Amino acid sequence: MKTKTTTLLVIGGGPGGYVAAIRAGQLGVPTVLVEGDRLGGTCLNIGCIPSKALIHVAGEYEQACRFTGSNALGIRVENPTLDLAKAQAWKDGVVGKLTGGVGALLRKNGVQVVQGWARIVDGKTIEVDTKEGEPLRIQCEHLLLATGSQAVQLPQLPPGGPVVSSTEALALTSRPKHLVVVGAGYIGLELGIAWRKLGADVAVVEAAGQVLPSYDEELTRPVLASLRKLGITLHLNCKAEGLTDTGDGLRVRSSNADEFVLPADKVLVAVGRVPRTTGFGLESLQLDMAGRAVKIDDQCRTSMRNVWAIGDVAGEPMLAHRAMAQGEMVAELVAGRKRRFAPLAIPAVCFTDPELVVAGLTPAEAEARGLEVTVAAFPFAANGRALSVEGSEGFVRVVARSDSHQVLGWQAVGQGVSELSAAFCYAIEMGARLEDVAGIIHAHPTLGEAVQESALRALGHALHI
Ligand code: FAD
Ligand code: NAD
Repeated sequence: MKTKTTTLLVIGGGPGGYVAAIRAGQLGVPTVLVEGDRLGGTCLNIGCIPSKALIHVAGEYEQACRFTGSNALGIRVENPTLDLAKAQAWKDGVVGKLTGGVGALLRKNGVQVVQGWARIVDGKTIEVDTKEGEPLRIQCEHLLLATGSQAVQLPQLPPGGPVVSSTEALALTSRPKHLVVVGAGYIGLELGIAWRKLGADVAVVEAAGQVLPSYDEELTRPVLASLRKLGITLHLNCKAEGLTDTGDGLRVRSSNADEFVLPADKVLVAVGRVPRTTGFGLESLQLDMAGRAVKIDDQCRTSMRNVWAIGDVAGEPMLAHRAMAQGEMVAELVAGRKRRFAPLAIPAVCFTDPELVVAGLTPAEAEARGLEVTVAAFPFAANGRALSVEGSEGFVRVVARSDSHQVLGWQAVGQGVSELSAAFCYAIEMGARLEDVAGIIHAHPTLGEAVQESALRALGHALHI
């Protein structure tokens, strides 16, 4: 068997693994990255990027369809049509550009990429069945686990036939007539809304009593209103029981034991993701676990010396930017720098229509920590930019300490609010006070003015409400 030695060995070429490898390369650490599938991982190939591209296509198509009827803008479009195969090819092109870019960046920084599935032998050794057919043994000083996560499956709805995960739902080349989405979380709502806009009948089955149960009701209310407007049918407090015998319907049971059938030619199961920790010998290391995730400390160290874990394999929040930030840090630690992973805010964005963003503490989280806080919201209905782009639903909300006025958190719902996440995080991480945000000149007319106005409102003197 061929043998290779290196300082840092990264298993997994997703946002966590590839960023760690690039940064390690920049710092002159000899690095090998092993990827069994495609560089870019879940995020670039079957997650963040293709989903946002499909959401964009869906939004444009829906807009064109809206202009076939009478509308306030006076625009008239005749018979819009959708070439789904072409749209999918465009989406795949976006993915290809980005994954190609990752390969180029790894090469530029001297990272050796090995294509194949890694099997862990011990904390310093792995074996890979390379594409060329010859097994390769790689020995390292530092082993970085960045193996990501996989979709949770429901035993009553095994994948196959009409039952799909987000991966297949992103790649459909014909529009489902009746799509039933199980799970009203991030994936269920992002993709459910997209397919509704692309012309499918969409029903959503959710076990909890509200959509996006990890967000508060005030924040999700505009999303709920939009789902209703789009004609998406919601079945809250309901669970999927399985397909009908004929295979063209989903049996659903509500919390008060009513049973009914929803027509379905596709069923998207989107009930969460779990860390990928089995099937490649990780168990043999007997690492401490935190539930189903690999347990890490604030430097992403596992319970075994020089074995590190980042991203989804290390648990929640399973977000690409958190994986990247951890990857960058581990590379610097391996290179001998002093770092710690202690962000005050890891923003989370849900690319629904309207979008939803949270950063830092919510009012409930602040209260649970015993903090006395001032909370204020500014509605987009009073923001010139929002009104001029037909996006007046939603608001920006700020949470600040009542004593020092230090900003602790932001929440927003509305069209395009994902782009406010940077401003939210700057304010929190730089320790801004309400007065700092209120005193900054924000360009007019922009959605950012609602950020300033919410701070002004918390101080008791908002100008435009
Ligand atoms: P991954 O990206 O999962 O990468 C892990 C890699 O490891 C994979 O390429 C896998 O093939 C490889 N691997 C695993 N085991 C082995 C082995 N034994 N040998 C070799 N290679 C191996 N997050 C956001 O922040 N924003 C979004 O908008 C967003 N949208 C999403 C949409 C969808 C539909 C999905 C499914 C996820 C989305 N996410 C989003 C989550 C995001 O994709 C993940 O948080 C992110 O990809 C995690 O990065 P990672 O590096 O930890 O793992
Ligand atoms: P999720 O945790 O966001 O939502 C799962 C939903 O399914 C929850 O509302 C839950 O109550 C419901 N559910 C669970 N079991 C059920 C059952 N048996 N029947 C009906 N409903 C059930 O999970 P997801 O949407 O699968 O996404 C997985 C992860 O991927 C997210 O947590 C997030 O980390 C990541 N993601 C992020 C983004 C983004 O950042 N924009 C987008 C997509 C995915």
